Amino acid sequence: MQLMTTLTNYTGNLQAALASVKQRIAEFEQKYAREPGSVQLLAVSKTQPAARVGAVYELGQHCFAENYLQEALAKMAALSDCAIDWHFIGPIQSNKTRDLATHFDWVHSVDRLKIAQRLNEQRPGQRGPLKVLIQVNLSEEHSKSGVALNEVGALATAIAQLPQLQLSGLMAIPAPSSDVTAQRQVFRRLAQARAELQAEGHRQCRELSMGMSSDFEAAIAEGATMVRIGTDIFGARGTMP
Ligand SMILES: *Cc1c(COP(=O)(O)O)cnc(C)c1O
Repeated sequence: MQLMTTLTNYTGNLQAALASVKQRIAEFEQKYAREPGSVQLLAVSKTQPAARVGAVYELGQHCFAENYLQEALAKMAALSDCAIDWHFIGPIQSNKTRDLATHFDWVHSVDRLKIAQRLNEQRPGQRGPLKVLIQVNLSEEHSKSGVALNEVGALATAIAQLPQLQLSGLMAIPAPSSDVTAQRQVFRRLAQARAELQAEGHRQCRELSMGMSSDFEAAIAEGATMVRIGTDIFGARGTMP
């Protein structure tokens, strides 16, 4: 019985899974006195075939996030008829910036000036400024990606000089923790960093991209404006065709 339920969830029931995630986001907005609709859902579609992404799009989800450039470009081509907002959330190699600047609407994982400068130079003028978030490393022992908290201000000031980029917020991927209080303490540091940037005049720096399937309640409690959810929509990665 348990196995049948699991298989149904993973292969067929995207509609119920998507509805459940949206329902939980709405509940957490209410529980933590967040404005209704202030938390945007990004469906993390890495490793999912284009057909499944298209199916979720047809259910009304129009923002998708991808980690791997080549995989994302193939899906963009397959789904070119869909009005999708594409967000890049993976590590950035400098030889990949042209495709990122050309094809994505948002890049969440900017963590060094050289990458920002390349995105700025390579953004096609007619697409308007690329929205970028600075990825912050909140748990240094866990990850090498992201700029340290004490370097966020300098990077933000440098990015603000780049006309083809719009500094739009901060993003983090904290080390996994099953303790909600600990999760909240880490997310709170990102919210404080954003408040400091806004106080320094970065008024467009509004987004807090934080929270995944296992910790989005804590992220919403601490002010997330974008949650990045993969597993809770599509099922566990690598377990379905
Ligand atoms: C894979 C991934 C997610 C989604 O994680 P789930 O636990 O599947 O919801 C979110 N953000 C980033 C940066 C990811 O790489």
